[in-house]
Amino acid sequence: MFKIYNTLTRKVEEFIPINPPNVGIYSCGPTVYDYQHIGHMRRYVGDDLLIRVLKFNNFKVHHVMNITDVGHLTSDADTGEDKMEKGAEKYGLSVWDIAKKFEKQFIDSAKALNIELPKDLMHATDFIDEQIELIKKLEEKGFTYKTADGIYFDTSRFPDYFKLSRQNPEELKGGVRIDLGGKKNISDFALWKFSSEPSGLPRRQMEWWFEGPLKGELSTQKNWSSVPVQYRETVGFPGWHIECSAMSMEALGESFDIHTGGIDHINIHHSNEIAQSEAATGKPFVKYFVHHAFLQVESEKMSKSLGNFYTVADIEKKGFDPLSLRYLYLQTHYRQEMNFTWEALEGAQTALNKLRGEFASWGEAKVGCAEFEQRFKEAINDDLNLPEALSVMWEMVRSNYPGSAKKRSLLKFDEVLRFGLAEFKPEKVEVPDKRKKGGFSEADKIRVQIEELGFTVEDTPTGTKIKKLNR
Ligand code: AMP
Ligand code: ZN
Repeated sequence: MFKIYNTLTRKVEEFIPINPPNVGIYSCGPTVYDYQHIGHMRRYVGDDLLIRVLKFNNFKVHHVMNITDVGHLTSDADTGEDKMEKGAEKYGLSVWDIAKKFEKQFIDSAKALNIELPKDLMHATDFIDEQIELIKKLEEKGFTYKTADGIYFDTSRFPDYFKLSRQNPEELKGGVRIDLGGKKNISDFALWKFSSEPSGLPRRQMEWWFEGPLKGELSTQKNWSSVPVQYRETVGFPGWHIECSAMSMEALGESFDIHTGGIDHINIHHSNEIAQSEAATGKPFVKYFVHHAFLQVESEKMSKSLGNFYTVADIEKKGFDPLSLRYLYLQTHYRQEMNFTWEALEGAQTALNKLRGEFASWGEAKVGCAEFEQRFKEAINDDLNLPEALSVMWEMVRSNYPGSAKKRSLLKFDEVLRFGLAEFKPEKVEVPDKRKKGGFSEADKIRVQIEELGFTVEDTPTGTKIKKLNR
């Protein structure tokens, strides 16, 4: 029985999908305006583990992830600059090229960490029509109002608005008068933002208009004259939240099983998604919300100015195997804040090397160690307790079971852990002469010594080959 912490109920619950054995899961994906760092990637490894554990339990998983390439402002609460425009300016590229550049960087980082992404990532800019349809549905049902800068969702019309965040609306205001900029309630949010061009500001690179059959993309047009007069007042771009409702429901239906994100998504982004989806359909949007805790570096928030902002490529440049970072992530429970240090990464790399060395020394996989397999499964099924699963794994590795049994079980564990033990190819190196000299009777002793030094010994048809394990 798989159990998972559901932010909606604040409880670890037995996982029962809507339509077993099928499981629909939507993950809020990256906003592709800048590099994805090791904090972001921790989250995606967390999602990867969740999906692998579901599959381990024989669920049929349909995983969907979006790429936010439009609509996300620097504040999640629909104010500030546009992230994509800001990124484009910073790197001297168009918003479309920025989106491509950083989507690739995200996918490369995910691959290096053995994260299995869905084959088709859904791009917000490919689903503008669906977002407009959803906004229109909300307009028809009376959940929206217009201000000078956009179309807003009226959260006072949706009494369950705070069911995920459990915030107190009075406390939100903090007892002070806040300029709501035309909004009726502090928690109201933008479904659509109007173009700034009528106010004399330069137009953004990504804008659309809607109404009637004349939906269209403005960004490829040269000027406003191409927009029929009656539609000019709709020119703008979708708010960030509406994309996730539109795309998740498009891919998984109006109600689905699991929605994931970072803990920062609880108060605004996911609360908004629930409000606009449930207001539109009248049905429960999601059964389980899963949220991942943040990563800090040397106990500080990661930022470029502190010089502690690292990507997966930075980890590799320093000579680490990216899978040692995966190993490190697994050592902290996903709901606990994690502190990244280089020392801890070294420790993870050493542990991974040792594991690979052990694995390589075991010969052919035969019947597994049932006792440890049972305990491993219990750990992963207990709200993804990977730290415990790793400790069960090491206990098994150190146990007296024969290598062939350990190998079978470790291969099974690796379906979830994904250290890629079966595919691991050590580099070939010259073997120091004195280690080559051992007589046949000494062979086994020497083999053990060589492995302790970080090499593996392989018997091949052309003789014994010694290979160095990646550091
Ligand atoms: P950003 O690209 O900075 O807007 O971040 C996008 C999302 O990535 C956030 O909403 C978080 O859910 C997640 N995220 C950002 N920084 C971290 C971090 N240090 N640790 C874990 N997740 C993070
Ligand atoms: Zn989202």
